[in-house]
Amino acid sequence: MNASILNELRNIVGKDYVMSAKEDMIIYASDATMFDHWPDAVVQPASRDEVVGIVKVAAKNNIPLTGRGAGTCLSGGAIPLKGGIVVDMARMDRIRKIDAANKIAIVEPGVITFELASQATKLGLLYPPDPSSWKESTLGGNVAECAGGAVDGEMCGPDWTMLITGSEGTLGLITAITLRLVPAPVTKKTMMAIYERLEDAAKTVSVTMASGIIPTTLELMDNMAIVATEKAVKIGLPVQAGGLLLIEIDGMPSTVEENAKRVSDICKECGALEVKVAQTAAEAESLWVARRGVAKAFGQIAPCKFAEDATVPRSLVPLLVEKSLEMQKKYNIPILIVGHAGDGNMHPTIMFDKRDKDAAARAEQALDEVHLVTLELGGTLSGEHGIGFAKAPYLKAETGPVGYKMGQDVKAVLDPAGIMNPGKMFNYEGALH
Ligand SMILES: Cc1cc2nc3c(=O)[nH]c(=O)nc-3n(C[C@H](O)[C@H](O)[C@H](O)COP(=O)(O)OP(=O)(O)OC[C@H]3O[C@@H](n4cnc5c(N)ncnc54)[C@H](O)[C@@H]3O)c2cc1C
Repeated sequence: MNASILNELRNIVGKDYVMSAKEDMIIYASDATMFDHWPDAVVQPASRDEVVGIVKVAAKNNIPLTGRGAGTCLSGGAIPLKGGIVVDMARMDRIRKIDAANKIAIVEPGVITFELASQATKLGLLYPPDPSSWKESTLGGNVAECAGGAVDGEMCGPDWTMLITGSEGTLGLITAITLRLVPAPVTKKTMMAIYERLEDAAKTVSVTMASGIIPTTLELMDNMAIVATEKAVKIGLPVQAGGLLLIEIDGMPSTVEENAKRVSDICKECGALEVKVAQTAAEAESLWVARRGVAKAFGQIAPCKFAEDATVPRSLVPLLVEKSLEMQKKYNIPILIVGHAGDGNMHPTIMFDKRDKDAAARAEQALDEVHLVTLELGGTLSGEHGIGFAKAPYLKAETGPVGYKMGQDVKAVLDPAGIMNPGKMFNYEGALH
């Protein structure tokens, strides 16, 4: 990047907050996927005005801009595919206000999810979206990816929030977020149902959802995930089990008691060998450690992964699990099956070592099939990780040509120069290498 542009950027954010030397930018070339591409510069603004200044410089010089939170994206969204400027939001990390009376929080995009969740808890409130990456990921990244469930912002005028939420930095940069908080639940019960067969755990999901009881958490883990997670967190998970469900039910005490009993009965009717109910807050917390530890334990199985978030109607979770098990055999490749099953949001995770060319090719084929099966089941390519670069080649198959064009048209209106996170989502231009 030429010196005068770098100087303009330094004038906006201060000289300490512009990087252009390769050794300083190494982490910005990748995210939590396997792609990488170098930026030409990284800037770290501290305010909305500084972000506006950066966007003006980029627009004037036709330089691509990629917003960045913590870089935990699983779809290649945070990678600066076309180089240009990465706008790192780390310094915009203030919780401006938690308004307990009106149950809203106003935050800057660089606030770490856990930080807001902890502050809200102190006030008896809950920030419901709960990505496993909550100790690392930022709220800006969560909104941009629509991560971990619905993130609900508010703005004046027409409700533009649905346009920006999940836009993955392709329509603009988020500089402040107004979030709705909810009252913390009065009581909750956390349970673990243990199965010999993964299929029975998956069946429990659809039967539970059909019963009308909506657990706040209904997480599915297969044997590979149980073993890897136990190795990482050592909390006594049943490593012999074919599958397990982590279940949490919250609400008023009498309802929680009744619903937990009913769900426990459903688990047993569907074939659970045992249903363990956490007896103390510490026991419940250890199950949460397991839930959040899964994604971080994958590395023990293989160095590379395609971490999918194939999302299907809840009643079809058993079918997606069945198809994933078939694909493991067909492609002779480990596909770890975990997921936020209560939302139909499954993570069939294809594990391989890319140095083994044959395994990498089989992994690609399995990946194709995961996407196609998901769409055939009436599902969506991404329940939470976003389309980014990784799933962009499949997006048209989901939206159809008309929906795809609409996405391109919206982008063209909001970002006529095409500088916002180019090459992703509706502006996919083909493979990287
Ligand atoms: C171990 C692990 C576990 C995970 N678990 C979950 C999970 O349970 N649920 C889930 O949904 N996801 C999960 N993820 C994925 C990831 O953590 C989420 O997508 C998260 O929201 C990304 O936040 P981030 O701050 O890291 O954003 P980044 O990775 O930095 O960026 C993500 C996208 O948002 C854009 N962006 C970032 N900040 C802004 C901004 N201020 N304005 C505009 N665009 C912006 C970027 O350009 C990029 O496209 C997991 C990832 C890992 C590595």
